[in-house]
Amino acid sequence: MASGGRDYQQLIYEEPAPKVARIVMNRPSRRNAQGITMTYELDDALKRACHDDKINVIILAATGDHWNSGHDISGDEARMPPPEQIVGLWGDYSGKGWQGYYAREREIYLEITERWRNAPKPVIAEIQGSVISGGIILTWMCDLIVCSDDARFRDATAAEMGIAGVEFWQHPFEMSVRQAKEWLMTGDWMTAQEAKQRGMVNHVVPRDQLTARALQLAETIAARNPFTMQLVKQAMNFAQDQMGRKASVDFGFHLHQIGHMQAMLANGFPIDLDSMPPAMRANIEKLIAARQASAG
Ligand code: ZN
Repeated sequence: MASGGRDYQQLIYEEPAPKVARIVMNRPSRRNAQGITMTYELDDALKRACHDDKINVIILAATGDHWNSGHDISGDEARMPPPEQIVGLWGDYSGKGWQGYYAREREIYLEITERWRNAPKPVIAEIQGSVISGGIILTWMCDLIVCSDDARFRDATAAEMGIAGVEFWQHPFEMSVRQAKEWLMTGDWMTAQEAKQRGMVNHVVPRDQLTARALQLAETIAARNPFTMQLVKQAMNFAQDQMGRKASVDFGFHLHQIGHMQAMLANGFPIDLDSMPPAMRANIEKLIAARQASAG
């Protein structure tokens, strides 16, 4: 998708109103699953909006019926981007044992998300339909969240993958500790209304009003002094970090790594096959067989 001199394969970058950038995940055939391509295109688009003096507020939206189905584990895309696209310093995703996996997850799920969460400009999520596991990370990095009444949220990592929550482990800062425990242990969906009651989202609106409501909120904030908005965001983020968020995210990330390693040691695949629903397990076993065949 042509965009200001940059070509995005899986994003649309638009400016729907003065001072507002709207970044749209555009991979509806995969329900906007986030692979390497989307990850680095998101990084580029956020940098573009943050570096553009004419932009004060950023909206993160998605095409199709569902906002985000999580990390792309289909194996269809390369495990890493070309080296020149890597943003952080954890460049080698091919190290032996767990070293490469650790470097990759540390860079593309933990550190990149932390930087996005601390983007100097307000980011508003505009969410419809289902958001699953990795998609939750993209939800939580946003400052404000507007969702449609058909939105629903699920972190399936504990219930179906043998992992204690998504890589960006912000669960107890998005809802109460008991709600977070139940949500992870059951793997149940959280409805838009439940998310609002728990304080995880700001507004729930009918689907046909979603884009207009998110834009209205963006325009309201975009009309304010942009430096003051930056200071508000930094003050809130700092306070949340003093409440333990940063340390919890870091500890949770490392327990997430233990979950992957346990699955690897038990069954040779970094997601626990024994926890998976049968259809998912069958797909993954096909993927493993195809990889083994191509490896000779
Ligand atoms: Zn992981």
